[in-house]
Amino acid sequence: MHLHSRPKILLIYTGGTIGMRKDFETGALKAFNFSKLLDSIPELQLLDCEIDAFSFENPIDSSNMNPEHWAEMARTIENNYEKFDGFVVLHGSDTMSYSASALSFMFENLSKPIIFTGSQLPIGDLRTDAKENLITAIQIASLQENGRPLIKEVCLYFEYKLYRGNRTTKINAEHFRAFISPNYPFLVESGVHLTINSELLLPANEEASLKVHTHLDSNTAIIKMFPGINEKVLTAILNVEGLKGVVLETYGAGNAPTEEWFLKFLQDGISRGLHIVNVTQCAIGSVSMGHYETSTTMKNLGIISGKDITTEAAITKLMYLLGQNTPQEDFKNVFETSLRGEMQ
Ligand code: ASP
Repeated sequence: MHLHSRPKILLIYTGGTIGMRKDFETGALKAFNFSKLLDSIPELQLLDCEIDAFSFENPIDSSNMNPEHWAEMARTIENNYEKFDGFVVLHGSDTMSYSASALSFMFENLSKPIIFTGSQLPIGDLRTDAKENLITAIQIASLQENGRPLIKEVCLYFEYKLYRGNRTTKINAEHFRAFISPNYPFLVESGVHLTINSELLLPANEEASLKVHTHLDSNTAIIKMFPGINEKVLTAILNVEGLKGVVLETYGAGNAPTEEWFLKFLQDGISRGLHIVNVTQCAIGSVSMGHYETSTTMKNLGIISGKDITTEAAITKLMYLLGQNTPQEDFKNVFETSLRGEMQ
């Protein structure tokens, strides 16, 4: 008789509320010992998979997340890639969409799931959302088809939904439903059964071998437009030494002022070789430069269209492409191409 071996899942604990406890002195939540945390979830023993765990030496609140931590996560997964069928990353919800986006770009030709999850309440709390998030994330990471992982991309699981990670954004600091994927439908829904929208999953290029890119260049900035934005502030940003890329959050379908000083600011930036990406401040919808007069000049100047990308995915894609030393003349084209399903 041929016995199927159970999928092997690596749990990576980076920190976040899920594993926090109240500090007796200050009353504030802080990261806690991970192995103790696992002991408090006996349900994990009942899952039909083998689970191994790895913890960051110093678990963090995800507000302290940075590209070095992303590189550490990526190396941990890369070093264990052959030994495991799927990876579940426990992470604070505050910057989870940034991390999921960053890792999606860092892993080229992924053929196994990397699923981010966390919770709004600590796992030890009576009303915690952590158990459902953790258990279902592990179950989804274990899904197989013809002996191969079903999910082959970086995802985010929260409150009964699995989303493509680089399509998500955190919208609620209080509700258990903390994330949305404004411009791409959810991939899996957890109800009585797991409903899988197979046609929405990223296909893997089975022939190509995995490439992990851990070098990101964070000489970048995000500028959010608002009526009354100050010329001096923008000029000062332009003069920041070493700045290579800017995500410009514009209005509506990618519109911005047509005042001369503002267009000169963009023109100066472009002449200095700065990559400027136009994304919309609206939660839903896409940039469409040239649709209004207020975006036509930007189009003519060669501003990059972020289309329907989230700000989280735009800034991390910028860091990734800069880290890859993408040639100046190709940059706009490459940015405007969907690399990991992050834009239309
Ligand atoms: N501040 C926490 C963090 O992002 C919030 C959470 O875990 O949900 O680490």
